[in-house]
Amino acid sequence: QTVIETRQLTKDYGNGRGCRQITLSIGAGEAFGFLGPNGAGKSTFVKMLVGLIQPTAGSGTLFGEPIGSLAARREIGYLPELYRYQEWLTGEEVLILHAKLCGMDRLHAKKRIPQLLEEVGLGKRGYDRVKRYSKGMQQRLGLACALLNDPKLLFLDEPASALDPVGRHEVRLLLKRLKEQGKTIFLNSHLLEDVELLCDRVALLNNGQILTEGSVTEVLQEK
Ligand code: ADP
Ligand code: ADP
Repeated sequence: QTVIETRQLTKDYGNGRGCRQITLSIGAGEAFGFLGPNGAGKSTFVKMLVGLIQPTAGSGTLFGEPIGSLAARREIGYLPELYRYQEWLTGEEVLILHAKLCGMDRLHAKKRIPQLLEEVGLGKRGYDRVKRYSKGMQQRLGLACALLNDPKLLFLDEPASALDPVGRHEVRLLLKRLKEQGKTIFLNSHLLEDVELLCDRVALLNNGQILTEGSVTEVLQEK
């Protein structure tokens, strides 16, 4: 079953930057790595897929539904790069606020939160204020937000990049677990290790274009 499909998906910001003619197909349960330097166009591509920005040309579907449509958004979780939280809130409050903004049922969300806090390894710290969180804990909270609606498909934009080695390790283990649960994962990273550890397939992106695509071993040998 194909989960993500794009055809010549293109974003031109009008300054020659963006993403050019990206054609990809990603199956259920796959972990796909989008690997490239800063400015390559990774965030742009994911923002188009989750419906935050409009493509200039081309098309794409999630679960067969056109990107940007409500139906396509329903089953996805998204962890943006460098997520900022209101730091006077507790982790739990951030999650409740997030549920509200996403139009989720408040009671349903509230019931899920303790289990979710355990799952991402925050546990009781989930009831502390975010201003007392390390960056690693903030990323785990971000993941909890992305997981709140129990999505089948997760988009993760540089989830480990801003973290110290310990935080990176924690987040990587967590992502591995999510993959083992059968989630389809689309991972943006400029770190080879992130992709190597988690992904089945990888595309190398530079200047908005895919240079090569294949299994992790294939692509990394070519490099
Ligand atoms: P990455 O996620 O790989 O770091 P981005 O998708 O954020 O790359 O950015 C790709 C390129 O597009 C960069 O050169 C960036 O400066 C440019 N860019 C991103 N957003 C905009 C925007 N809103 N307007 C103009 N250029 C942008
Ligand atoms: P990202 O987190 O996607 O890599 P950046 O940190 O490069 O994005 O940029 C932060 C914000 O500024 C984003 O909303 C992006 O779209 C916008 N932006 C990035 N580069 C440019 C640019 N050259 N011109 C205008 N806006 C930009």
